[in-house]
Amino acid sequence: MADYKLKSIDESIDFESLPWWDVIIIGAGPAGLAAGLTTAHRALTTLVIEAKDSPGGQPHFLYADKRIVDIPGFPDGITGEELSERTYRQAADAHVQFRFETELTGIEDTDQMVEGDLVKRVVTSNGTFLCRKVILACGLLHYPRKLPVLDALDSDRVHYRSPRIADYAGGRVVVVGGGDSALDAAVMALQRGALVDVVVRGDAVVGKADTLSHVCELEGKIHLSEEIQTATLEGDQILCRLNGGVELRCEQAVVQIGFLSAKDTFEGLALQLKPDGAIAIDPYFETSRKGIFAVGDVHGDIKLIAVAWAEGIQAAIHAFREITSPYWLNEKRLSDNKLTLIAGRLAEAAIQKAR
Ligand SMILES: Cc1cc2nc3c(=O)[nH]c(=O)nc-3n(C[C@H](O)[C@H](O)[C@H](O)COP(=O)(O)OP(=O)(O)OC[C@H]3O[C@@H](n4cnc5c(N)ncnc54)[C@H](O)[C@@H]3O)c2cc1C
Repeated sequence: MADYKLKSIDESIDFESLPWWDVIIIGAGPAGLAAGLTTAHRALTTLVIEAKDSPGGQPHFLYADKRIVDIPGFPDGITGEELSERTYRQAADAHVQFRFETELTGIEDTDQMVEGDLVKRVVTSNGTFLCRKVILACGLLHYPRKLPVLDALDSDRVHYRSPRIADYAGGRVVVVGGGDSALDAAVMALQRGALVDVVVRGDAVVGKADTLSHVCELEGKIHLSEEIQTATLEGDQILCRLNGGVELRCEQAVVQIGFLSAKDTFEGLALQLKPDGAIAIDPYFETSRKGIFAVGDVHGDIKLIAVAWAEGIQAAIHAFREITSPYWLNEKRLSDNKLTLIAGRLAEAAIQKAR
């Protein structure tokens, strides 16, 4: 290890027979991978549970080919796929353990105590796992919303994420949706020489104005207040008829009309939510349930990879401190006690003054 402070998990550990994990992380996106890497580098046994069949989260599943240009340290940008692959490899090399195609369904308290921690039972679609701390890093976007009229074609020409570069091959692409993801998909296709029609149900595009300008500069065509009324497969093409009568032929259709939210999952976890429905956390990224942290898109209003990384790392370090410092010396407990003390003194002073 390059940094003298970093430790490593003992390779000879039999992970299958651990009585409990130090930390279980839900989600192998940017936040979960950064958190896992950090806990593993502090020699905490770490299990990451991921609903999909591979790691990476949104950069891997939604924009694998997009060149991401706002990650510090990558002046020439990096694709979603490469970034995901690198982060995953780093976590796996640090002996983070992964369970794919395993979906969180609940978190129960047990009556077992380990050094001040009430052991938690993480319930998933593939069995249960015990742990001391849980870090929720499951994002907000779960599965893409389907468009029935295109979905009924059951065709591999209909995509719910940005297709691979090779799929465009200079052909015609219909993008459905008016948000940032739809505009991003349109720009990607246009930059690769495709002819692009964007079909927007509303009377205005809601995505970023500069991306919209980019689509227009690249001669993408926007159809406002339109919906695909019927779609049929004709050889290598999809023929889409819009409700206004326009016919669009394309080799690929990209649907970006939002996502089914993962909120259903965390609403079932009995966590305190904010008025906007996001998970409430304290300055230590801990939720209203002790020992359960929440990081990345799942709670935050700044939805960026670097922010998800930073939060994952911070929560991991707070979890580490709680696990390794004596219960009564725990930084958070001391700070809470101090606040309680100050609040008590203030209340006392107010009573004195009132007399
Ligand atoms: C089209 C698009 C382009 C973007 N471009 C950029 C960009 O250029 N730069 C940038 O910084 N950010 C960008 N973002 C935002 C960025 O991708 C997110 O902020 C980031 O991925 C959040 O990471 P996360 O780990 O919190 O969540 P996610 O990436 O959503 O990862 C969450 C993971 O948890 C899993 N999961 C969900 N529910 C469960 C469950 N119940 N059980 C188990 N696993 C579960 C999911 O399958 C997923 O793998 C973009 C987003 C989109 C949609």
